[in-house]
Amino acid sequence: MTDPGAILDVFRDAGALLEGHFLLASGMHSPTYLQCALVLREPSRAERVCGRLAYRFADAGIQTVIGPAIGGIVVAHEVARALGAKALFAERQDGSMTLRRGFAVEAGERVLLAEDVVTTGGSLREVQQMVTAAGAEVVGVAALVDRTSGRDPGFGMPLVSLVKIDVPTYQADDCPLCREGVPLIKPGSRVVPGSG
Ligand SMILES: [Zn+2]
Repeated sequence: MTDPGAILDVFRDAGALLEGHFLLASGMHSPTYLQCALVLREPSRAERVCGRLAYRFADAGIQTVIGPAIGGIVVAHEVARALGAKALFAERQDGSMTLRRGFAVEAGERVLLAEDVVTTGGSLREVQQMVTAAGAEVVGVAALVDRTSGRDPGFGMPLVSLVKIDVPTYQADDCPLCREGVPLIKPGSRVVPGSG
């Protein structure tokens, strides 16, 4: 499962990658729906996929994996499991990414940052700065999915991902799929029997 096609199949099997005409949480419309949480909801699948990502850092001496909440929590945990490292998550407090709950990094600690999907990389850059300011060393940045579409997320090091996926988005009033009359689907919505 090292080639991007196989990874995409895993996403499709999990219902995490759909093609059609979707209303995204942002209000934008898109022909692609991507939801990593649907891959990660099955622990055995999460372990397998994240293990493939961890493999890329097998010789990097990673001591700690940190993911930004919420998307990075499970990925960091599963990557850390594969590497025999610690798993922490960073969360936003008063607008800044911080380590809470007794989490900390030490000077010189070798840290891998992990995320489910990287689009702009903003949260990861914040975590990187926070970790670096604490004296630890960010030795890699990993994500299941690279959605940067070729833009540099600004980590100063390569973003290592399992697969690159482009998710085009359109304003609701300027959507070619709407113009073609393709039915709009709100992902995750379904009629629950008996719900009335
Ligand atoms: Zn549309």
